[in-house]
Amino acid sequence: MSHLQRTLVVLKPDAVARGLVGKVIERFENAGLKIVATKMRIMDADFTRQHYFDLEERHGKDIYDATAAFMQSGPVLAMVLEGVDAVANVRRLVGGTYPNEVAPGTIRGDFAHQSKAAAVAAGIAIANLVHASGNVDEAKQEVELWFGESEQFEYHTVAESFTFGTH
Ligand code: ADP
Repeated sequence: MSHLQRTLVVLKPDAVARGLVGKVIERFENAGLKIVATKMRIMDADFTRQHYFDLEERHGKDIYDATAAFMQSGPVLAMVLEGVDAVANVRRLVGGTYPNEVAPGTIRGDFAHQSKAAAVAAGIAIANLVHASGNVDEAKQEVELWFGESEQFEYHTVAESFTFGTH
């Protein structure tokens, strides 16, 4: 089906430790996105490097190191979401990187308020609850990194019967 995409979402250690897993997932389910894979894991140094392979290039070593330490500080909950233009739609629901700059109604805007300046001053990563693939190519590569074929599922939801007109 055209426009149908799969994208990776990772609920970061702050979302898990703050007990916000249910509330965050609810945002995606409410929008009709379908969970087709999920797992909890601890990210080690190698896997973090694979996941954030271009982060050091984009933001420098200090921010890479702070982000890697944060991502490895506790278990994360990863999932693959499927839907129409899922990559862009999930990013829209998540909001931009810096919680203090993004609109209320987004996950990062509603559940955090950290700023870039405050994080840099403290030498810590921005705890913004969710990672979501940035574009379609990244989504394909990230889904493959986190999940094998046998860990991804196909089933029907009521929501998609309205999205695709099959009700
Ligand atoms: P996004 O997660 O919004 O796609 P990036 O891929 O640029 O953003 O960065 C990955 C993660 O690294 C961010 O979500 C955040 O947790 C952390 N990060 C990015 N920039 C900074 C910064 N200036 N200070 C602290 N942490 C940062």
